[in-house]
Amino acid sequence: MIIGVDIDNTITHTTEMIMHYAEIYGRENGLNTVPDLRYYYLEDALGWTTAEADAFFDKYLGRIYYEMKPKEQAVEVLAELKKQHELILITSRNSKFPQVEEATITWLARNNIKYDRLILNATSNMHFFSKLTICQEHLVDVMIEDHYELVSEISPFLPVIMFEYPYNRHLQSDNIIPVKHWNEVKHWIDLFQSQKIGSVG
Ligand SMILES: [Mg+2]
Repeated sequence: MIIGVDIDNTITHTTEMIMHYAEIYGRENGLNTVPDLRYYYLEDALGWTTAEADAFFDKYLGRIYYEMKPKEQAVEVLAELKKQHELILITSRNSKFPQVEEATITWLARNNIKYDRLILNATSNMHFFSKLTICQEHLVDVMIEDHYELVSEISPFLPVIMFEYPYNRHLQSDNIIPVKHWNEVKHWIDLFQSQKIGSVG
């Protein structure tokens, strides 16, 4: 199968790392540091202005991308999946910022993440782009994702294994499989694979 895999909050603990540095930045600058985690975007979760959030990311995003850790078993499960499947990492991280692409490639190598191809966001939106087109162009069979808008966009067309967060828990459909751990991802991919073989045979 061809498996699409998001990076932030799917392979990594991105929100935790952002909130760690947002607390430091908020204290330095007299801003709210208590997040409402039902909101995905930093400015919504903390009630900061877009300018305050931009200034924060200018200062800390490089460090955040560098220091973040993979989720438990993500490295092992991806390595296992790559033996049988094609893995395409599809991320809203923006390729217009060369340092972002470079930081991402370096991080993936340093953390021993196995993959076949990396596709970054090439649109003018810094933090978001439509992944459905990419999934369809690359014949992705199943997507692993956490972002509520992307899960909503993709799940009418292909199954989505969704890492659960307070901001996406409201989403429900037969094509959305909520998971909390990478071991569950492995279980579901194995199941899809056996169903696929079953339907062909
Ligand atoms: Mg994500």
